[in-house]
Amino acid sequence: MKLVKLNGESSFARGLALGKKIKDICVHNLLFLQQELAEKGLSLESGLKLASENEKVIASYFPELLEEIRGVAEGAQLPYNSILLETAFPFIADSPSKCTIISALGNFTTDRLPIVGRNYDFLLDFKKCNQIRIVKAKKGKFSFVGGTITMLGVEEGLNNAGLFIGDAGWEPKELSSARGLSSRQVMQLVLENCSIVDVAVDFILKAPKFANNAGTCYLLVDKKEAVVMEMGLTKSCLRESDEGVLVAANVFLTPIAEEMKPPEPTAFPRYEFVKKYFHKKKGRVDSQSMQDILSDHRIPICAHNEINTLRSMIAKTHERRILMADGNPCASKFEGVKIPK
Ligand SMILES: [Zn+2]
Repeated sequence: MKLVKLNGESSFARGLALGKKIKDICVHNLLFLQQELAEKGLSLESGLKLASENEKVIASYFPELLEEIRGVAEGAQLPYNSILLETAFPFIADSPSKCTIISALGNFTTDRLPIVGRNYDFLLDFKKCNQIRIVKAKKGKFSFVGGTITMLGVEEGLNNAGLFIGDAGWEPKELSSARGLSSRQVMQLVLENCSIVDVAVDFILKAPKFANNAGTCYLLVDKKEAVVMEMGLTKSCLRESDEGVLVAANVFLTPIAEEMKPPEPTAFPRYEFVKKYFHKKKGRVDSQSMQDILSDHRIPICAHNEINTLRSMIAKTHERRILMADGNPCASKFEGVKIPK
């Protein structure tokens, strides 16, 4: 797993430092994006057109993100448009990810404090793209530690205010025509700007989102509460925790489900299995029991197929660090990564 430390410098400088460190990942991911377009019968031009429509919206809301993209492009010695292209993925309404994220709090945990665990599942070929980003706060913003395989943004993370965000999701029946940030960029901005769940929900609602991030389930956890935000074509629904356990596992459980394709066969069993496991462990959930469920092969939660568990993480929102495992949690050691001050 690549360790990427970024300082509280300007957006361009931060992008430049990132681009230099992940040049090989940028090249790999750009090839993937080009292949995706070709497989879906789309031209590179149509992908770039979507990206430039995102760019216009990003320019009026978060121009610093475009500075960061300029920096990444220069650092990776790739064209600016090649990096920008990632904001438009997924290009059509399907993506093969299959993640599980779980949070428990209150009566469920040994210390009654929130804990969250997440397996990130995607194409095995992307294992070499795993990164831990250790990002120092810019002025007035928060520091965070995040995990990702992408060029831009993160796929989960915890900030020094004790706010966690990660995503799971499924394929929408169609993509909305909304333009703006990718879900990975949204998560990065949430970690940099938000301290608690309520503020983050507001932030996500207001941010311009590419295709409204339809098909994404954001799990948000702070020091007190947890919520899942199910993103649909034009709106989103909140799902509160069931007593003290919340699971996001590629199933939509609010009315947003009507806008999604039928879930993949293991999604509901995984959801039920995890909930049952935590109810059995009520009052005894800690890092070890979280590690055990993330490593479980019965459904499985820990995936060893073409869609593979590429990394696994456990976080307690009251601690300033996350535990990260590079690869399948059943075989890899979890190591602590501190959030910078
Ligand atoms: Zn395993």
